[in-house]
Amino acid sequence: MTKRSVTEDRIRVAVLGSTGSIGVNTLRVIERHLDRFQIVVLAANRSADALEEQARRHPSAQVILCDRGAYADSGGTRSDWIVGRDHLLDSVTRPDVDIVVNGLVGFAGLEPSLRALASGKRLALANKESLVAGGELMVRALKKGEGQLIPIDSEHSAVTQCLGDRPTSEVERVILTASGGPFRGWSAERLAKVCPSDALQHPTWDMGAKITVDSATLANKALEVIEAHFLYGLPYDRIDTVVHPQSIVHSLVEFIDGSVIAQMGFPNMELPIIDALTYPERVADAALRTFDAVNLPPLTFEAIELERFPLFGIGSEAGKRGGTAPTVFNAANEVAVAAFLAEEVSFPMIADIVGETLARFELGPATELGDVLAADQAARRMSREIMKGGHTAARGYVTWPF
Ligand code: MG
Repeated sequence: MTKRSVTEDRIRVAVLGSTGSIGVNTLRVIERHLDRFQIVVLAANRSADALEEQARRHPSAQVILCDRGAYADSGGTRSDWIVGRDHLLDSVTRPDVDIVVNGLVGFAGLEPSLRALASGKRLALANKESLVAGGELMVRALKKGEGQLIPIDSEHSAVTQCLGDRPTSEVERVILTASGGPFRGWSAERLAKVCPSDALQHPTWDMGAKITVDSATLANKALEVIEAHFLYGLPYDRIDTVVHPQSIVHSLVEFIDGSVIAQMGFPNMELPIIDALTYPERVADAALRTFDAVNLPPLTFEAIELERFPLFGIGSEAGKRGGTAPTVFNAANEVAVAAFLAEEVSFPMIADIVGETLARFELGPATELGDVLAADQAARRMSREIMKGGHTAARGYVTWPF
């Protein structure tokens, strides 16, 4: 391998959502490999102070804050910053950007993802909602732009590594692992009393609030099943899930000859991040913890408890329905999770709101960006109306998909 010089040939990276969990981990990885990478864009939504601190460490990066209100609240004195979401969208197509790391939260990540793919960039994607809400658009943009789509999600990073160059015709099925979240094995009575601080205690992964709640409801695993469907072009009956509480086996691929390949490692998002940045090359990184098979906890596997975690079934069904169903699932889930974090609805109501929104929503095709944007907006309105209607978990309002 030839040694790269520090000033030339560095891979230029735009980090979207730089102050969030994925962004902070990405910067940590890149700062250990500055001979290889250079940060050219730092973009955050609202966290002006954290962004300013990052900008000091990467003085040549263009700094973007999306939220104009947050910029005004921070004093509005950073003359070298650019402010507004339009600039974030423009930044991903800049000719001096090689890799776009999308660590944005939720549906807001879709358009930047589409632009990055359409302009032929490598998209290192942590924002799984891009593929859930707009999967068909993403696949089309990837083909048209001839860019690359490398997942940062740990399970999909694992699947990508297990697959290597093998065609999906040799794959019997993909098996995504799930930690089971903080409430694995809890009774329905106990789940009804869960508060946001309980849901934000993830047993194995340290992540942002939205994905941590999604892990607690298992909506995250449904989002990941849909993500895998679009990433690998596999039908849903060839994407399985299994609960693996230790989060050491990050996913498995079973091939048509019966052989199963698993990818393992201690749970640390820096690993899928560095793999996405350097894929298909592997790069030495002494800071990442050395694997120690002898001192591992016993590795166990069990089925997902569908009855206690209905959002997994609802989300998986949304994937199979296709069209705007995954878009609606994602939108309703974002609204319901935000309401739960604001202590406006109970934990079981998250599933009720999402199920009820899907039951009422008139689903359609999701082949144009306009379809997807309209479905997302309409689903958010409908979810809020359902919440205002005061349907409670006690009424058992999960009517979809029946
Ligand atoms: Mg994951």
